[in-house]
Amino acid sequence: MKIPELLAPAGNYENAYFALKYGADAIYQGLEGFSLRRTAKAELSVEELRSCAELAHSLGKKHYLAVNMFAHEGDILQLKAKSHMLKAIKTDAFILSDPGMFLVLKEQVPEVEFHLSTQANTLNSSAVSFWEKQGISRVILARELTKEDIVSIRKNTTIGIEMFIHGAMCMSYSGRCHLSKYFLGRDANRGECAQPCRWEFKMKDERQNMKDESFIEIEEDERGTYILNSKDLCLVEKIPELIEIGVDSFKIEGRNKTSYYVANVVRVYRKVIDEVLKGKLSEDTLSWAKQELTKVSHRDYSTGFYDGEKGSFNLESSGYIKDVKMVGIASSDGTNIEIDVRDKISVGDEITIIMPNNGVDQTIVIDSMINSKTLEIIGDAHNGYKVAIPKKIAPFDKLIVRKSSI
Ligand code: SF4
Repeated sequence: MKIPELLAPAGNYENAYFALKYGADAIYQGLEGFSLRRTAKAELSVEELRSCAELAHSLGKKHYLAVNMFAHEGDILQLKAKSHMLKAIKTDAFILSDPGMFLVLKEQVPEVEFHLSTQANTLNSSAVSFWEKQGISRVILARELTKEDIVSIRKNTTIGIEMFIHGAMCMSYSGRCHLSKYFLGRDANRGECAQPCRWEFKMKDERQNMKDESFIEIEEDERGTYILNSKDLCLVEKIPELIEIGVDSFKIEGRNKTSYYVANVVRVYRKVIDEVLKGKLSEDTLSWAKQELTKVSHRDYSTGFYDGEKGSFNLESSGYIKDVKMVGIASSDGTNIEIDVRDKISVGDEITIIMPNNGVDQTIVIDSMINSKTLEIIGDAHNGYKVAIPKKIAPFDKLIVRKSSI
């Protein structure tokens, strides 16, 4: 049985740290100005990318760099000017979709591998073989594939295949969409998407007075209708068969997400994958996994196109479910828990330290709290505070703390 890679998004250094700590085999990040998350501060400078790649390599893990925008002439010129700096990052692979950028990087940084972005919408084995002949070592499949498609692609190709197993979906072919450009002049294919597909639309059909039976009936409530809104992808139950099929890399979407999101989703899939590889994925683990995945910000889940459904639209709402939030990063010396606070905590709150490596989560009630800077006893702590909570607990370093917000 092939051991798959678990690949996590890392929009910044903190997310990279926690993705790796909670069990990712590899991380991917975007290069400033060249990836598909340009407006959301989820792109990093060359210097930041170098630190993250060093961190991954120091742990024996891999680092991939997304440069997957569709480039215009000016972008190619900028890439050429920057390419000497890209060598310094020492990334393991570039993730790209534009043939022009591929050509430039192949010439300038030939020692690095090339992975074809999902943005290139690869849907069949012939396309995979085409890209293999061009020098691509791994293809990230389009999300619009069924299980049968993936089985067939695996049987008929030999290079690496990677697929998304968790996270947000586009309602159009993996980002090849003009909604954002049309409404706001922000081009999704150059990393500037404003996600208008999640807006609340009201549709008016000019011909509604005509008696044409073929008209599509549009249902809506007083808030409008969400005909373009997609559910989030969740393939946790499919992991055993995906490992059996021989997918090389399982990718989690979310370079804009919080470190808590990345850590928790990673540790869930880590545990499921490890149990499958040991030949014993238990019902208990699967139900724990499904439960944990509801404890991160998400829209309703679906299996997308995997089961042959016609996509995964959510016509009811585009809202995110956020019942649990990250409140800080904690360390313990055995007698005190020090927390770098990110969201309000108060005496009396029940908080949970989430554990990597199959550890048992530690839930505690805050009986008292000391401001580490002023040494005052306090009742509430807010974002930016550092606090100490007297509590005898096995020592640990830098773990994420969360709290139920309901
Ligand atoms: S508007 Fe929606 S469907 Fe279009 S690229 Fe952006 S997120 Fe994807």
